[in-house]
Amino acid sequence: MSPHDPDRDPSWAWAEPRWRRAVEKVRAGRSLHPARWKDGARVCVALSFDSDHETSTLREGSVSPGRLSQGQYGSRAAVPRILELLRRHGIRASFFVPAVVALLHPDEQRRVVDEGHELAMHGWIHEMTSQLTETVERDLMRRAHEALAKIAGRPPVGVRVPSWDFSPTTLGLIRELGLLYDSSLMADDEPYEILEDGEPTGIVELPVEWIKDDAPYLGMNRASTIRPYTPPSAVLEIFQAEFNGAVNEGGLFLLTMHPHIIGHRSRIALLADLIRHMKSVDGVWFATHEEVARYCLAQGSAAG
Ligand SMILES: [Zn+2]
Repeated sequence: MSPHDPDRDPSWAWAEPRWRRAVEKVRAGRSLHPARWKDGARVCVALSFDSDHETSTLREGSVSPGRLSQGQYGSRAAVPRILELLRRHGIRASFFVPAVVALLHPDEQRRVVDEGHELAMHGWIHEMTSQLTETVERDLMRRAHEALAKIAGRPPVGVRVPSWDFSPTTLGLIRELGLLYDSSLMADDEPYEILEDGEPTGIVELPVEWIKDDAPYLGMNRASTIRPYTPPSAVLEIFQAEFNGAVNEGGLFLLTMHPHIIGHRSRIALLADLIRHMKSVDGVWFATHEEVARYCLAQGSAAG
C-alpha cells in the first residue's frame, strides 16, 4: 500500500498547511512573455517531437516484438519524413528523446543535431517519474543527461519529463543539473519562471498542454480504450485555432508531437498543412525550445 493511499490518508482530512505546501511546491512565477519577439515577430512557434519510439513499450516492462515494431516505425519511417518536411520549410525544432532511444538510435540523434535541431532530455526509458524515489530519479536523470551529451557532443539544456509526470522532487533535480528550461508543466500559454516553495528558481517553463499534443487525438493502444477517435482534419482545425489565438495575443504556440503518431502518411499531411498555414502569416518566429527559453530569459532580465 502506498503511503499516499487516499483510503488511508484522505485529502479532506489534511490540515491547511499540508495542502498549501503541496500547491506551493512547484508553481508558476513571473511571466516571461516578452514584450516583443525576436526581430519584431508577431508570434513564436516552437515545434517539438518526442521520439519515444520503443520506450512506449519498454517503459511498461513489455518486450512484445509486435508493440516494439510500432516504436521502430517512429525511427525508421517517421523521423526521416519529419526531418524532410522541416528541411523543406527551413524550420528548426526540438526533439525530446529518452536516453534508451538515443542509445538505440545514435545516428538518428546525430542527424537531428546535424540538421540544426535541438536534442533535449525525455527521461531514461520513459519511466513514470512520480513512481520513483528521489535517489532513483536523480540517478536516471544524470545518466540520461550524460548519454545525450555524449551522443550530441554537447550537454542538453532542457527537459520534458516523460508523460509530463513531474514529481515533487523533479524541480530540485533540474536545478542540480543546471538546466535552462523545463517543458512539462501547464500553468500558462506563455513562458514563465518556475517557483519552488514560493522562491524564484531562474528555470524557464515552456508550457505544454494535452490540447496541443497529437497523442490524445491520434494515439492507439489495442489493450486499452485508447483509440484515434479524431480525424486528422479536426486535429488540424484545433492546432490552427491554437496558433491563430497565439497570433492574436502575440504569444507562443508550442506543439508536442510524436514521430510514431504524426509520422504516418495521413497525418504528416496535417502537419504540412499546419506549417503552410503558419507560413502564410507574416512575422512568425520558428525557434527551438532552447532559443525561446534563452530569448525570454534575456528579455525578462532586461525588463528587470
Ligand atoms: Zn514521451
